Amino acid sequence: MVKRIGGIGKMWCGAKVINIDDALPHKVSEVICVKCGHRWLAVRPETTRLKELECPECHRQGFVIETGETNNVGGVDWEQWCD
Ligand SMILES: [Zn+2]
Repeated sequence: MVKRIGGIGKMWCGAKVINIDDALPHKVSEVICVKCGHRWLAVRPETTRLKELECPECHRQGFVIETGETNNVGGVDWEQWCD
């Protein structure tokens, strides 16, 4: 399952490979919406700022911060982030 995040980035859910549709370097990190507490893995181009991300749960923009918990992307069990 791949969800769009505000039309900017995409998230992973499960082991599905996401498709970043441009050649920009991208960043994967766990983020949390401080508005509603929803956390998810955000994949977005490095040039995208956190405040540009939209929460997939409450659809607010500007409340997303990194949790800093995702340091080893390859070692993450993506399934745990699926609802
Ligand atoms: Zn939210």
